[in-house]
Amino acid sequence: QAKVEGGACIRLFDQALRERSERVYRLLSRLRKAISLDQFELHYQLQFDMQTLQPCGMEALLRWRDGSNGLVAPDQFIPVAQEYGLMPAIGRWVIRRACRDNAALIEAGLMDVAVAVNICAPLFSEAGFVALVRQTLRDSGLPAERLELEITEDVAMNASAQVLQTSVELHEAGVRLAMDDFGVGFSSLGRLKQLRFDKLKIDRSFVSGLPGNPSDQAIIQAILGIAQGLGMRTVAEGVETEAQLALLQEGGCSQGQGFWFARPMPLAELIEWLRARR
Ligand code: C2E
Ligand code: MG
Ligand code: MG
Ligand code: MG
Repeated sequence: QAKVEGGACIRLFDQALRERSERVYRLLSRLRKAISLDQFELHYQLQFDMQTLQPCGMEALLRWRDGSNGLVAPDQFIPVAQEYGLMPAIGRWVIRRACRDNAALIEAGLMDVAVAVNICAPLFSEAGFVALVRQTLRDSGLPAERLELEITEDVAMNASAQVLQTSVELHEAGVRLAMDDFGVGFSSLGRLKQLRFDKLKIDRSFVSGLPGNPSDQAIIQAILGIAQGLGMRTVAEGVETEAQLALLQEGGCSQGQGFWFARPMPLAELIEWLRARR
């Protein structure tokens, strides 16, 4: 009896595995063609100065316009792209497009801020990464200080000599570095001191606990203290309410990003937004 049930179980498991791998396989083959089919787009979310409430930066966020499935969010495809080694190629496209778009915004006199681009670990750790960034800046005509690179704690902390060297060279080139989603991964404060980050981005999961959650409040205060002591600016992610804004302002957070200020927008919509504000 047990043997029969076990067999059925294995068959079910087999089937689930097969379905999953078929799904991943189909996703992968569509993803592989996405760059050449020009199916990626960048949406831009503005970042605001906490005191003046003026735009002071923007983050480029990747979307995939997948024929039949409409606009696909990054968490639906980046993990698979990452696992199968497609992210460096996609990331190179993202940097090029973001630099080009920001150069156009500056040229048009619409806004003059840095664009922040998310960089995955394998791309940041590539030997030719700094050269790629320099070349992209030259091609687009974007000044180095108008580009910011966001890396997550795992990139920074999985510290090889290469990562340290890259961060020093980027800093020397005038490109800014931001630590994304700070506080949710494994951070070493010694490493934080060593790498030259200009900004710490406080993860949304802490901000969403405001007001009311004393632990989140305490963690945010601690992060703001560390950043201030190390001379880094701070950006709070996922600011959705006025109450969150007020607490972060009081705590001395320098910048905010979130639906309360502005949602991510395609370039054309961002241009409209900026024109309407003038
Ligand atoms: P992230 O870098 O932490 O980006 C912020 C995410 O929070 C974005 O999600 C943004 O739409 C969302 N967000 C912003 N404000 C609010 C808010 O007030 N409330 C809520 N609930 N959400 C808010 P998105 O665009 O889905 O991106 C998710 C993640 O995908 C990003 O997190 C980033 O880790 C990754 N990602 C996006 N674009 C790229 C890319 O070009 N390259 C790489 N390597 N990763 C990317
Ligand atoms: Mg980011
Ligand atoms: Mg983030
Ligand atoms: Mg986050």
